[in-house]
Amino acid sequence: MVVLRFGTYVRAKSPQDAYELLRSKKGSRIVGGGGWMRLSRRSVGTVIDLGDCGLDAINLTHDDPVFGDALRIGAYVTLRSFELDEHLDRASGGAAAAAVHDIVGVQFRNLATVGGSVCGRFGFSDVCLVLLALGAHLEFVGAGRIPLEAFLMDKATCRDVLTHVIVPAAPAQASYQAVRRQATDFPVINVCAAHTCQGWRVAVGARPGRPRLVVGSAQEGGAQDASNSQGAPCVTLTDAPTADEVEAACASAQRLTYSTNMLADAAYRQEVAPVLVRRAIEEAAR
Ligand SMILES: Cc1cc2nc3c(=O)[nH]c(=O)nc-3n(C[C@H](O)[C@H](O)[C@H](O)COP(=O)(O)OP(=O)(O)OC[C@H]3O[C@@H](n4cnc5c(N)ncnc54)[C@H](O)[C@@H]3O)c2cc1C
Repeated sequence: MVVLRFGTYVRAKSPQDAYELLRSKKGSRIVGGGGWMRLSRRSVGTVIDLGDCGLDAINLTHDDPVFGDALRIGAYVTLRSFELDEHLDRASGGAAAAAVHDIVGVQFRNLATVGGSVCGRFGFSDVCLVLLALGAHLEFVGAGRIPLEAFLMDKATCRDVLTHVIVPAAPAQASYQAVRRQATDFPVINVCAAHTCQGWRVAVGARPGRPRLVVGSAQEGGAQDASNSQGAPCVTLTDAPTADEVEAACASAQRLTYSTNMLADAAYRQEVAPVLVRRAIEEAAR
């Protein structure tokens, strides 16, 4: 039987308090909904709960230093709130709700958090995928503010406290596409295309490695520098993409690295990803 044990359970009073505990106590961990953590068979010396830190809301702000009008999504927001938020629905062209809709079930989505989903950096993550396509930035106590794409490139264990995910608030056109062997299973391959105030960005995930951009340009502080770090250059799309531009995006998706796991083999993923990229761009452009 899989058993996760906690030595000490602490409800932090503030994100700063959580950060100090995390850094001072060896073997301590932040817990979000605990949905993923509970699958591991081990003990955590000190587990730090952010439930009292005021990070469970999605707020609209008009003075974000990068985006101007922006949505600040608290790390403790559940995937169910993420799915139902009206501002986020507009800002993601419906893709945020579509991306999380098949994650297990409503009860689970009422538990799992945005923070746990981002900090887990799971390759299959539908949450990271859609946020990457929207050009999200992350705000940490410790690391400060960084683009999500830079965080996804980093292989080191996260020892900071994520407080907010920030996305532009302006209405977007977007489309989420995925293949699942059956509803609520992990995605075999997933794609999100978004046309926001930052232009077009298209991300491919569940390769099964972490999501990567195939369309879009590097943000300030981003690690991709106009390439997706796998040798394939990120292409750019004009506001109304031409057939040649869409073709170039599909070719960029085909050049990503794919691997085999229990859900699908690399060749299958490499074949299907460009098809989903085309569908996502065409649907978002409509
Ligand atoms: C059976 C199952 C099926 C799933 N299917 C899908 C799927 O199809 N698509 C999908 O996208 N996801 C899927 N998931 C993942 C799920 O959506 C969540 O991403 C996952 O449960 C983590 O969220 P959590 O809040 O439970 O995090 P936790 O399990 O609590 O934490 C996960 C990690 O994040 C760290 N962490 C949490 N919050 C913070 C923070 N604020 N700052 C720093 N570190 C933090 C924790 O220390 C831990 O390392 C699935 C999960 C399960 C168990």
